Amino acid sequence: METESEKAKILIADDEKVNIDVLDGLLKPYYKTVIAKDGFQVFKRLEKSPLPDLILLDVVMPGMDGFEVCRKVKDNPLTREIPVIFITGQTDEQHEALGFEVGAVDYIQKPFSPMITLARVKTQVELKRRGDRLEKMAIFDGLTGIPNRRRFDEFLEYEWERSLRYRHPLSLILMDIDFFKRYNDYFGHSEGDECLKKVARAIAESLPRTADLACRYGGEEFACILPETNAEGATIAARRILANCRDLRLPHPQSETENIVTLSLGTATMTPTNEIQRQTIIEMADKGLYLAKKNGRNQIRAFEE
Ligand code: GH3
Ligand code: MG
Ligand code: MG
Repeated sequence: METESEKAKILIADDEKVNIDVLDGLLKPYYKTVIAKDGFQVFKRLEKSPLPDLILLDVVMPGMDGFEVCRKVKDNPLTREIPVIFITGQTDEQHEALGFEVGAVDYIQKPFSPMITLARVKTQVELKRRGDRLEKMAIFDGLTGIPNRRRFDEFLEYEWERSLRYRHPLSLILMDIDFFKRYNDYFGHSEGDECLKKVARAIAESLPRTADLACRYGGEEFACILPETNAEGATIAARRILANCRDLRLPHPQSETENIVTLSLGTATMTPTNEIQRQTIIEMADKGLYLAKKNGRNQIRAFEE
């Protein structure tokens, strides 16, 4: 049985109360429904998260008609993926064709059959959810649940360009668990996995700013991208991560640092220019990380020329 929060959310947009009541009554047993009485209310509802999984849209409404509402929904990258089904009394072919042209996935004519409408809604909701799952899998690491390397690459590209444009400093932290091979050898691989999950969470929770990104870079390596952050800010964040990881007090008898799981961290800060490739900041942080390892691990090193 699906819980309330797992129920798909459907936005019903219609200007006539009878239509709303019928659709709401039909869908409510299976979905979380939200009502909008015109186009403007649709966009008000779309400002709130979670966004709906489907929009059931009337064509003839006062102010903004359904076609225009649909066009705007499809033009906005934040709402583009929400499927729109028209449900309307406009039964001629031209209107139906226009509905698909503006981006609808289905077009239901009134008077509608409740059973068929439910079935068509169900199909679109399932497709939407499958799409959401795939999208999530593409950018989140399956083990730890934090963003993955692919998301890191995307995010760094975006933030590098933004820092270039606004001449902001950008900071990067690369980190690696100390003596993790020994941890696996001593406790076994599945304990190793549990350790990675806890460390990942500690790292993510060390970055309270929503603009920052913490991700699993690969294996037992993690990375943080800190937009609009100078070297001092990067060191502060790195210290917090180091401390929070130590505070987990995960026993690691084979470690040569302390008898707990520790991290080595390398930081780098750059203000991008057109002459520098963004790969450079990764190489710099990696050199910092190498120095931290070489100097005894369980510490932070900023890259210096
Ligand atoms: P150092 O302090 O120099 O970083 O030594 P290390 O042992 O941590 O580094 P090394 O690169 O030799 O070993 C990394 C280990 O991380 C080896 C690998 O089995 C383990 N590892 C990588 N990914 C995973 C994973 O997903 N789960 C588990 N359990 N272990 C992993
Ligand atoms: Mg490693
Ligand atoms: Mg390691």
